[in-house]
Amino acid sequence: MEDTGLINVHSIIPSSRVNGPGTRLVVFFQGCRFDCPGCFNPDTHTFEKNKLLSPDDILSKGSGEDIEGITVSGGEPFEQPGELLRLLKAAREVHSLSTMVYTGNTYEEILSDSVKYQCLAYIDVLIEGRFMQGKKEQTALARGSVNQRIMLLTGRYDFSDLEMPGKGEIIISPDGTVTRTGFRG
Ligand code: SF4
Repeated sequence: MEDTGLINVHSIIPSSRVNGPGTRLVVFFQGCRFDCPGCFNPDTHTFEKNKLLSPDDILSKGSGEDIEGITVSGGEPFEQPGELLRLLKAAREVHSLSTMVYTGNTYEEILSDSVKYQCLAYIDVLIEGRFMQGKKEQTALARGSVNQRIMLLTGRYDFSDLEMPGKGEIIISPDGTVTRTGFRG
């Protein structure tokens, strides 16, 4: 997608406790070309424009002062690397939020692109690699499959912070929309 400064977003959860440490604002980017069998969120695959939002639009949706961080998922966040970089930078530098990103890219694939590489400087926790249905995570760790690496890129968290004992959440919005989130294990 052309870089307009706006992010093509699938959906946002203003407050979640099962998508990383503490209470988090969760944003799902629209668009992914990996097509992992068994993907938990196939509606995010198309690259058609859905909701076009600025980083400020997204960050303003975090509900309340108890939000500890932002989790970026998808879809594939690194398909919009310039926009991802601006979002992460604003989250950390303007809103003092911790940052966690799920990606189907491997760490090595991220390193091979200069803009994607710059994003790493603003990520506390990276969960990388394609989802593999035959290797589903069976513990409480916040990843879909065991081939995915949980990379602690800063000292802000440790692995015990990435255990999500509840693993699932059902959120009912004021308009009646029901959102299921978390890990199916
Ligand atoms: S990378 Fe994630 S969103 Fe994309 S197909 Fe795989 S599991 Fe689904």
